[in-house]
Amino acid sequence: MKRRAVFPGSFDPITIGHFNIVERAKQLFDQIVIAIGINESKKYYHPLEERVNYLKALYKNDPQIEINAYSGLTVDFCKTEDANFIVRGLRSTTDFEYEKNIALFNRQLNPSIETIFLMSAPEYSHISSSIVREILKHGGDAERFIPKPLNSKELG
Ligand code: ADP
Repeated sequence: MKRRAVFPGSFDPITIGHFNIVERAKQLFDQIVIAIGINESKKYYHPLEERVNYLKALYKNDPQIEINAYSGLTVDFCKTEDANFIVRGLRSTTDFEYEKNIALFNRQLNPSIETIFLMSAPEYSHISSSIVREILKHGGDAERFIPKPLNSKELG
């Protein structure tokens, strides 16, 4: 059986920190679904369609990666994707406390889905979408924090 994992997040925007987690998760799983969670009560900086298109362009030539968006429970989305694993990244104890609770809830909601945590690489552990958004908002140079598709003309 193929090992399929869902990497859920807002990816608003995807950063080199997320990218590194995906690269490492590729060693562990046959297929990874990068899934943009839609939370009606959350305000996003980049529209959903833009985030989906960016991820699709970024991973266009990578057969191990699928891009999708979902609303509702992550464990339910995993079932529809036939995935038994959720991948999350950990940067700090703050991430840990937050992620631990989500993982424990998810386990109670569906014990057959295992959450796998990958420690952030030290060079990326300060990188967050929220700070990258602040840099973008103020016209700073955020390019170096955002992974680039080979052909960046494809970006919409
Ligand atoms: P969410 O809105 O669900 O927190 P994010 O897009 O901010 O979504 O993050 C998705 C996942 O990626 C989370 O598990 C988060 O901890 C992880 N992550 C974010 N930035 C980094 C980073 N620099 N290094 C490792 N993991 C990261």
